[in-house]
Amino acid sequence: MKTYKIATIPGDGIGKEVVPAGRIVMEAVASSQGDLRFEFENFDWGGDYYRQHGVMMPEDGLDALRGKDAILFGSAGDANIPDHITLWGLRLKICQGLDQYANVRPTRILPGIDGPLKRCAPEDLDWVIVRENSEGEYSGVGGRVHQGHPIEAATDVSIMTRVGVERILRFAFRLAQSRPRKQLTVITKSNAQRHAMVMWDEVAAQVAREFPDVAWDKELVDAATARMVNRPRTLDTIVATNLHADILSDLAAALAGSLGIAPTGNIDPERRYPSMFEPIHGSAFDIMGKGWANPVGTFWSVVMLLEHLGEAAAARRVMAAIEAVTADPALHTRDLGGQAGTDDVTRAVCAHLARHDAARAA
Ligand code: NAD
Ligand code: MN
Repeated sequence: MKTYKIATIPGDGIGKEVVPAGRIVMEAVASSQGDLRFEFENFDWGGDYYRQHGVMMPEDGLDALRGKDAILFGSAGDANIPDHITLWGLRLKICQGLDQYANVRPTRILPGIDGPLKRCAPEDLDWVIVRENSEGEYSGVGGRVHQGHPIEAATDVSIMTRVGVERILRFAFRLAQSRPRKQLTVITKSNAQRHAMVMWDEVAAQVAREFPDVAWDKELVDAATARMVNRPRTLDTIVATNLHADILSDLAAALAGSLGIAPTGNIDPERRYPSMFEPIHGSAFDIMGKGWANPVGTFWSVVMLLEHLGEAAAARRVMAAIEAVTADPALHTRDLGGQAGTDDVTRAVCAHLARHDAARAA
């Protein structure tokens, strides 16, 4: 019997609906398997915590997370608190504090999902986007002076270090190498940004020599958007900076059918600290409290969490249950044009996992 310690952080908005659903699915996969157990600890950090305590999470919050095997996260974002406070006070504090420097975002068109691209068969779009998650444009360096005066000045300084660029490129090459097509596209903007992005290109060429079996190419970020839409099949694994990959992965999620489906992992590849898994969507103020949130992005994040823990069989079973459910239009939530609620989808995924249990017992 393997027991894993899991931290759940629902955060704000529909995070409070999809993370409990994710936990139910984790319990279902564990009980249907028999050799797997999870010990959950829930943390009520986020906007409500901020209203009570003036901070999104306690000062020593990271200490409570360090001993966990993995973290399941919902969303940080509250209608009444500025976004830069909620984001930096919770999600980025955890990502940076636990040095989760690789943000991994798989994108596929799941069975039964109607993507917006004409002439794109499901097998034409199977990507993993690797986002640098610790520095770059979101390093937090900068400042504002003379606020409110005509001479006001503000900077956000993008910091790229050789160590940071090298480690994310090495991670991306290794991931590309593990996938059937062994293909990596390195995205920069090294025509216009002539210092750090040129260093990316140089480091990419250098790291590439360690991976002679990986075919790689380069693309500028603006051209990459067009290539994702017009020639999706020419892409497989993609690596880009913090900002570029943030934008490209929302585009990828939309091309795959809905933001509500897309998962992500914030990974510490060296496994010094727990990694954190979350749907890529935010708090969705427009639908929160209604029970309409699509939990599939969270369930797919659970699949990534299980893969990270080395529980490949459990991961495959949850993915199969997700795909069986998306294939049924009666189980589509409103973002997919259906009528199903969060609970309906959750129950259906658990029922699918339980059927496997029955088959195993028979
Ligand atoms: P959002 O993802 O919350 O919502 C965008 C649109 O997609 C909305 O119409 C919403 O209803 C829909 N949507 C998103 N997830 C869905 C789901 N699971 N099921 C059905 N529909 C879904 O993005 P936003 O409106 O830009 O941001 C709202 C808040 O969330 C902001 O405060 C923002 O800062 C925060 N946010 C947090 C994260 C994060 O914590 N990782 C990510 C993005 C946004
Ligand atoms: Mn984003």
